[in-house]
Amino acid sequence: MTKEKLELVEVSPRDGLQNEPDIVSTENKLALIDHILAAGFRRLEAGSFVNPKKVPQMADGDAIFAGVPKRDDATFIALALNLRGVERALAAGAKEINYVFCASDGFSVRNNGGTVEETFNVWPEVAAAARAGAARLSATISTAFGCPFDGEVAVTRVVAVAERCVGESIFELAIADTIGVASPGDVHERVRAVKSVTPSHIQLRAHFHNTRNTALANAVAAVEEGVRVLDGSLAGIGGCPFAPGAAGNVPTEDLLYMFNRMGFDTGVDLDRAIEVAHFIGGVLGRKTPGMVSRAPKWPA
Ligand code: ZN
Repeated sequence: MTKEKLELVEVSPRDGLQNEPDIVSTENKLALIDHILAAGFRRLEAGSFVNPKKVPQMADGDAIFAGVPKRDDATFIALALNLRGVERALAAGAKEINYVFCASDGFSVRNNGGTVEETFNVWPEVAAAARAGAARLSATISTAFGCPFDGEVAVTRVVAVAERCVGESIFELAIADTIGVASPGDVHERVRAVKSVTPSHIQLRAHFHNTRNTALANAVAAVEEGVRVLDGSLAGIGGCPFAPGAAGNVPTEDLLYMFNRMGFDTGVDLDRAIEVAHFIGGVLGRKTPGMVSRAPKWPA
């Protein structure tokens, strides 16, 4: 029987590193990207084009995109929060743009520089710019499960944002638990609700943080709802400069171990993914949250 495919998008070079206080060199980031590709990942968040004063760790986006391997079988995602960021990403050679909206105004004002309503004003222009630049465009709904400033976020808000996201030509819509507050029940409910307003040609992607140790359970819930693209960050690093208390992304190697044993084909080699997690720990010089990378090999 052929195994069902599950795509793991590796976000350690962007979401994983962006909150690290000590600047990781461009050289080390490019080495990380090489290791990620060698482990079998074919899609990864390579960097973001946001205000370098606000997120200094991501100030080298141009150099990263200039330095990534030129290969047709790998996709390097550039994250942007405004039209200027999209233009910079395209100028740097990005072929896939992930544009981020928020489900809550409190986070949107701090992270995206305007209310949810205001950030949609430039959406048609963003989509036009991506088209003109021959880049694929995806959208992410951040704080889709809760906001560090506004608290609980109603499902109706998430659905309303999803409807506007899919109003432009995107190939993928991601829902993100930016601060790691979701439970599997929330995931079932929200994925189902978002799916109900998303045309079937647009694939769904889910992004979880493990702040409250629910991320693996949430990932399973998303897959049970038909999601076949999941974000993870090797070693479980990550956080958000604008989301107080947001801990690491779900560790990719933990996702990989679990979904391997559930019979999914991700195309990623677990042993090599664990080596990359160790590489990250070495670069950061500290113990990282992922668990599988610290457990004995299984099966031995
Ligand atoms: Zn995140």
